[in-house]
Amino acid sequence: MTQGSGEPRTAAVEALQRLVVDVPDYPEPGIVFKDITPLLADHDGFTAVVAALAEAGRDADGRVVVDKVIGMEARGFILAAPVALALGTGFVPVRKAGKLPRATHAVSYDLEYGSATLELHTDAIAPGDRVLLVDDVLATGGTVRATRELVEQCGGEVVAFSVLLELGFLDGRAALGDLPVVSLQTI
Ligand code: AMP
Repeated sequence: MTQGSGEPRTAAVEALQRLVVDVPDYPEPGIVFKDITPLLADHDGFTAVVAALAEAGRDADGRVVVDKVIGMEARGFILAAPVALALGTGFVPVRKAGKLPRATHAVSYDLEYGSATLELHTDAIAPGDRVLLVDDVLATGGTVRATRELVEQCGGEVVAFSVLLELGFLDGRAALGDLPVVSLQTI
């Protein structure tokens, strides 16, 4: 599902097309890195994408249906924090191994390049919490899958994943099963 409607989404898609820069062979040969820093530096563009990403946390009547918004290290933090404020919820970081200071759940996963371990504070998500995940790029889906597992270990439920760019050729969406994915642009 690619959803979200109206002006915020149109403005967001226009901003993505204009302000995301392709960097070939970074961080290694064969990878085209999607650099969102010019988008973040543009007030109107950043505002538009935050509004569009936040739509995934509302129902058809505009009511907020999530308790927490999670961003995955590192670019997910930059997008998820303002989405949480827009929805009137708290923000929770999922971090790479060893960065969170208290008791964590941990899950290892594969990236488009390399592998990593993600962690979540055990008390960051309460049992029954409904959670929206936010990130910049969906590639293989490993990051989202691992994060969903972390949320479930806390007793929470991921209700949707909202992302700027989906790399369709990697079919990350298929790796996410029944999780609703709201991507602003598919490449
Ligand atoms: P994956 O787990 O394979 O879906 O990879 C998604 C994560 O890796 C996201 O947190 C992205 O920020 C990052 N990522 C993967 N591929 C790219 C890419 N081509 N450009 C920018 N970021 C990427």
